[in-house]
Amino acid sequence: NRRFVLASRPKGAPTPDNFRLETGSAPEPGEGQVLLRTVFLSLDPYMRGRMSDAPSYAAPVEVDGLMVGGTVCRVAKSRHPDYAEGDWVLAYSGWQDYALSDGKGLFKLDPKRAPPSWALGILGMPGFTAYMGLTDIGQPKAGETVVVAAASGAVGSVVGQVAKQLGCRVVGIAGGKEKCDYVTGTLGFDACIDHRQPDLAEQLKAACPDGIDVYFENVGGKVFDAVLPLLNSKARVPLCGLIASYNATELPPGPDRLPLLTGTLLKKRIRMQGFIIFDDYGDRYGEFLAAMQPWLAAGKLHYREDLVDGLEAAPEAFIGMLHGANFGKLAVRVGPD
Ligand code: NDP
Repeated sequence: NRRFVLASRPKGAPTPDNFRLETGSAPEPGEGQVLLRTVFLSLDPYMRGRMSDAPSYAAPVEVDGLMVGGTVCRVAKSRHPDYAEGDWVLAYSGWQDYALSDGKGLFKLDPKRAPPSWALGILGMPGFTAYMGLTDIGQPKAGETVVVAAASGAVGSVVGQVAKQLGCRVVGIAGGKEKCDYVTGTLGFDACIDHRQPDLAEQLKAACPDGIDVYFENVGGKVFDAVLPLLNSKARVPLCGLIASYNATELPPGPDRLPLLTGTLLKKRIRMQGFIIFDDYGDRYGEFLAAMQPWLAAGKLHYREDLVDGLEAAPEAFIGMLHGANFGKLAVRVGPD
């Protein structure tokens, strides 16, 4: 059994030294337990927060503790009445090959309904986040303009595609031409702006001639600076993530733009609301699935995975995601089906 633990807390961007690979034997399930074998491990931006002991909505991973994470596993051995060997389950068993579970928190997956790995992406936490943040906080109406950054990623790709289904004009922001071409060509957004271009603000303005009614915030930083002047009166801003600052060690250099932000919110009566998916919407997963499944069945939503091979590749892939090296929902193929 191989497992990655947190070797030390990162200062700024994480480095491979912050992780340590340990090996041991696979545990044996006791009465009422199952042994899970990890097939896919999800890598997600929130894990950067867990590596830090700064106050947050969830407890940090302890130094020398197992790196946490969502997984899709197969039951390798079962001494639990509800699970049989070979069952596919969604678990939260972290960065390791094998884990024991008493069944609590496991969610059975039917591989005939959807590829099991989708439970980590479009049908799981990121898709759920996109759907609830957009519909419940963003409240988009047909004809409105919706903007989302990290637009080719796990959350952003679903935000934009769902907004298209709801009749909105959708503008994505992504890093580089290849991602932007995918966002417009395959995902069907109306436009996509490359945030690495020096004239990001002008390009975004040109792509949003009627201003922005819903800005789904995944990024912060200079992307938000470009969005702020374009927000319309009564715009809604679901505040989902701020990945541009996850590795920051200090506040960005001035000028202080807080009065600009608060002044804009006041004058334009903008509603900006943060949310943490399972804390705020944990009881509404069924509603999300009921909306998504018909769209998926009708081929109206595209889903792109970025699968890297082997548990040992996890740290580098995770580090890369924090600066856009992934293209689609990032996950590790830890073992064979
Ligand atoms: P992605 O699959 O979108 O991967 C992260 C992407 O962020 C990168 O590929 C990169 O895309 C983009 N990015 C990184 N740094 C920057 C930067 N400085 N400026 C602009 N873009 C940047 O990740 P997810 O879809 O899983 O997550 C998206 C966001 O949603 C994150 O902020 C995450 O923390 C948040 N989230 C929040 C949840 C909640 O409950 N509130 C739940 C789940 C996710 P590119 O190359 O296009 O720049």
